[in-house]
Order: sequence, then C-alpha cells, then structure tokens
Amino acid sequence: MKFEEVSFDLDDKNLFLVDDLKLRAEAIRHSILPRLEIITNHSISLTNERFKINVLELSTVLKFPNFRKTRAKEFDIDYTRSEAGLGGKRNVELWKSMLKKNGEPPMIIPFSLTFSLDEDGLSFFFLSNRYNLTMKDNSLFYDFHLKYADEIANLVNESKVSLQKYYAKENDSYKIHPFICFIDYLKWQRDIEILDLPYFSRTIKYPISNNEIELLVSEFITFYPIYDSYLRLASGNSVLLNEQIGLLKDWFINSIDEEKSSLDEPTKKDNSHQEINLLKLAEAKIKVMPALRWQVFQRDNWRCVSCGRTTDNGIVLHVDHIIPRSKGGQDHLDNYQTLCDICNIGKSNKDQTNLRERN
Ligand SMILES: [Zn+2]
Repeated sequence: MKFEEVSFDLDDKNLFLVDDLKLRAEAIRHSILPRLEIITNHSISLTNERFKINVLELSTVLKFPNFRKTRAKEFDIDYTRSEAGLGGKRNVELWKSMLKKNGEPPMIIPFSLTFSLDEDGLSFFFLSNRYNLTMKDNSLFYDFHLKYADEIANLVNESKVSLQKYYAKENDSYKIHPFICFIDYLKWQRDIEILDLPYFSRTIKYPISNNEIELLVSEFITFYPIYDSYLRLASGNSVLLNEQIGLLKDWFINSIDEEKSSLDEPTKKDNSHQEINLLKLAEAKIKVMPALRWQVFQRDNWRCVSCGRTTDNGIVLHVDHIIPRSKGGQDHLDNYQTLCDICNIGKSNKDQTNLRERN
C-alpha cells in the first residue's frame, strides 16, 4: 500500500466502539496499525530528506499496541487507540549523559512524535514525558525552551499544533494551571520543581482524507526540530535547531518556486489512472454497515480469500460484494468476502464467484 492510498473512514471510527475486544485488536493489528506505519515511514523519509539526516540514528519506530505473538493476552485488551511514530531509541549507551532519580542512566528517553488514531480522529502528538529524570537534567530542557522561545513559538504556530492544558499536582489533586503562556508556565514549573507531562497535539476528525493526512505529516516535519533537539540534549550533544529551521525555510522557498513553474506547464492527465479513481469512487459509495466490514475480515481470518495474502505481505484488505448490489446482492455477511487490493482490481462486476466457497 502506498501513502497516497491511506485514509480513515467512519467504519474505522466505529471500530473503537465495537464490543468484541478480540475483533477490535485484530482490526487494529491488520488494518489500522499498517496504515499508521505507512504514515510514519512516509514522514521519516520526508524528514530525512528535508533535514539531511538519518532520523533512525537516535529514534526508533514505535507501535502501539505492539502485538508480540508470544502474548496471547494482548488480544483481550480494551484498546481505545492505536499509535505509530518516533520515539527515542532503546539504548542505554545513547542516553548516558542523563540520570534518572535513582542514579541510573535511562534505557529509553520518553520523548515521542506520533500519529494516534482513536474514536475522535487522527492526531499528531509530541510528548515529552520527563518525570523520571533528575531536576538537574530536566533543567536542560527548560533552558532550551527559554533560550529558543521565539524559534519554538514560530515552529508551533507554523505547524498548527496546540499546547494542551497542563495539569499540575497540588496537594494530591490535579488541577489546570492558569498559565498565560508557555514560557511563564516553564518558569513556574522550574521554580516549584514540579514535573508533569506537557504535550502538543492536533486532531483531524473523521472521515480523514489522504490530503488531510498529508497536512498532518507536514506538521510532523515542521515540529521535528523540537523533538530532535530534545534527543540531542539527552544524548549530550548540542542542538541543531537553527540549522534545521534554515533547511525548513530553504525547502519552503524551493517548493513555492516549483509550484510556480508547474503552473506554467500544461497539465498532463493519465486516463487509465483517472479511470481507476472513478472506479474507486463508485466502489466507495457502496458502504458496508459499520462493524460488518470487520466481521467479514474476522470470519476470513484477515486474509484475502483468493490469494491468501495478509497485511504482512504489504496488501490492503477490502470487503467485496460477491453479488453486486446493482444485481440485487444483499448487505449481508454471506454476500461479502475478503479480497486484497490486487485480487479486487482483477475481479469485475460480472465475476460473481464466491471465492470463499471455492477454496
Ligand atoms: Zn488476493
């Protein structure tokens, strides 16, 4: 599956309301997570390109849930979201300039830049969960924010993410601190030595088109220099914030120039491509009832009934009407089968083979 094909519809939203926990977990594993991973990988390659770096030197690709095959229990959990993105690498050598409160260097650095899907929509998150570090090490991050206040504010404004409410612990209860701006908040936090969980996020509501996902990816890239600075500080290096902002600006100017020159060229249209898009559009009008789609996948063991491929083979699962609606086919479980995108394109409306029975 290509990035351009990734989107999320109301069936995906409703999945998070499905009572059957096993079905929900399987759907996340075979359908939701693969799409979130495609968005993440696409973001990584664009980030590498734009900042001329290798993102995976300090970071690793995070997945939630992780679904280790040895842990059958992971399929009985009430998952309310699924997530993929970047987090600090699991390598104690990398972060040994930092110390936890117990005096040991951390195995992982809890900063992450992720895409999260839940009932509300698709969100982009920057989390900086610093609670386990000593106050001295935490001060490094506060100092960074104070030193680069303007640059960070610009990046935040540019990327449309917003600073979420902070909850400060006071007398064993959490309450929202009425801070005026981020810097005031940081100074206040440092003064009273309270460490909590600041985060930035933005959410796109369902149905989520590929164009909207593309915007979220560009916000991920715009926000990346802040996350990168956190990791560099944690690995005992100096930050590259201004250099990276410079590269971001260069890219922005170049992309405007490219857009201008493409306006001068006559637009070329690929007819066959258009035809496929029209077919897809027609397909999309035939909506399977919420959850029924997941039931079909579940019954067919999350495999294409024609070729046997699963999402592990890089395909996308589709629900196919055995007898098309136009020919009187019913919206019933028996009239559906699971096909991968490749087999689905090969099957025309005239072909009413029930591949599930044949196999
Ligand atoms: Zn197939």
